[in-house]
Amino acid sequence: MSIRFAGPEGGAEIQEALSLAFEGERFPHAVLLEGGPGSGTDRLAADLARAAVCLSPGEKPCGVCSGCVKAAAGSHPDIFTVDGDADTRAFPVDTIRQIRSDAYVRPNEAPRRVFVLLGVQNMSEISQNALLKVLEEPPRNVFFVLTAVSAAALLPTVRSRVQVFSAAGGGLPGDWETAERLARAVLAPAEAELVFAAAGFAGNRETFRGVLRQLSALFRDALAGRSGGTAMISGREETAAFLSGGLTRRSLMRMLEETETARAALEQNANTALLAADYCARLSTAAGR
Ligand SMILES: [Zn+2]
Repeated sequence: MSIRFAGPEGGAEIQEALSLAFEGERFPHAVLLEGGPGSGTDRLAADLARAAVCLSPGEKPCGVCSGCVKAAAGSHPDIFTVDGDADTRAFPVDTIRQIRSDAYVRPNEAPRRVFVLLGVQNMSEISQNALLKVLEEPPRNVFFVLTAVSAAALLPTVRSRVQVFSAAGGGLPGDWETAERLARAVLAPAEAELVFAAAGFAGNRETFRGVLRQLSALFRDALAGRSGGTAMISGREETAAFLSGGLTRRSLMRMLEETETARAALEQNANTALLAADYCARLSTAAGR
């Protein structure tokens, strides 16, 4: 299917990546849109929910079919929204269990039932584990759209069951030039490059956070590339291809793990300079250099 987005929210990159992910017959079961406040992930989630219930054979949401009209009015019987950004206690485990049993009910009128869970960084581990059960074996015709400030806020088990898309516009200030230089430096013979790259993060926590998010997207794309996939989360085709060409699947998996570990550590308020240096050293080891 082809998706029409309502505005520039989240930026062209994430919209492009989402469009690619939703192309063709296969509809993803669960996506996570990550980005800070103001990054537009809530609007993107609404666009996807509308597209998921749109009955038009063409571009979705068409805006005129009965599915679109109800979705726009907030009264579509197959769209369920829980807003954890508005209320941090919105995800008690009972709510998740209810969602889980609702997920097995057939859609009323749309092709699928849609569960929009906003601000899942506010979901407890118990609730996340309850959600995991339905993400592991999703019923047919169910679509989960999650948003979070950072994918690192979720349990790795949950993260591995959702397709993560990062909103580049607004939110976390990333730095693609640095992210790509760092990714390429991993394959360079001299570690000096890496150390140099790490040094730049010492006083800039927000940039480091953004760059880690971008590296995560790059490593995911490189892994997809090695498996013959074309999923482009990062939108950085050349660098992703460079990585998948120069590194083994095992190395890329480890680098992705190290990146996610570093992201989690950063959220735990680790010292940025020390974390950056340690992360770069670990990347180098993971790459086998
Ligand atoms: Zn429609």
